[in-house]
Amino acid sequence: MKCPQCRNEMIRRIENHRYSESGLPNVVLVGVEVEHCEQCGEILVSIPNIEGLHRAIAMTLIRHPGRLAPNEIRFLRKWLGWSGVDFAKHMGVAPETVSRWESVDNGKAMGGTAERLLRLAVAHGQPTDDYPIDLLAEISDDQVPKAGLLAMKPERSGWVPTSLAA
Ligand SMILES: [Zn+2]
Repeated sequence: MKCPQCRNEMIRRIENHRYSESGLPNVVLVGVEVEHCEQCGEILVSIPNIEGLHRAIAMTLIRHPGRLAPNEIRFLRKWLGWSGVDFAKHMGVAPETVSRWESVDNGKAMGGTAERLLRLAVAHGQPTDDYPIDLLAEISDDQVPKAGLLAMKPERSGWVPTSLAA
C-alpha cells in the first residue's frame, strides 16, 4: 500500500494501537493491522467492525464502577447520536451544563441522577429517534402531576393507546 501523503511504500505490522481517535485516551486496540510510512511517519490503522467496537466500548464503560470521566460522558453522548443540545434536552439541563460535564479541565462532575440516566440510555442500546425529546425538556419541578385517562386497545401488532372519543 502506498502512503497517501508521500506515495512511499508502507509497511504493515500487527500491533496494539492506542485509539485516541475515539476521544478516549485509555483505549487500546489489541493486535490490529497498522500501515506505517517510514518516510513521513504517516500511520493508517485498519479497524474491523468499527460500529461493533464503539458499541462494545460503550457497554464496557457503563459497566465500570465509580463515576464516568468527562471524555467518557462525551463518548457515550456521541454514541447515542446526540448533539450537546439533544443531550441537554434529555437531561433537562442547559447546554452549558453539558459542556461542563464534558470538559476535562473544569472538573465539575455530572450529578448522580444524570449519570444514572445516561448509563440507562446507553444500556437500552439504541437512541430512540422517534422519542419526542422536547417533551423531556418541558418537564419541570414545579409541575403538578395529573393523571389522565389512558385508553389501551388490542391490535394485531400489540396493545396501542387509543382515544375513547367516538
Ligand atoms: Zn509517507
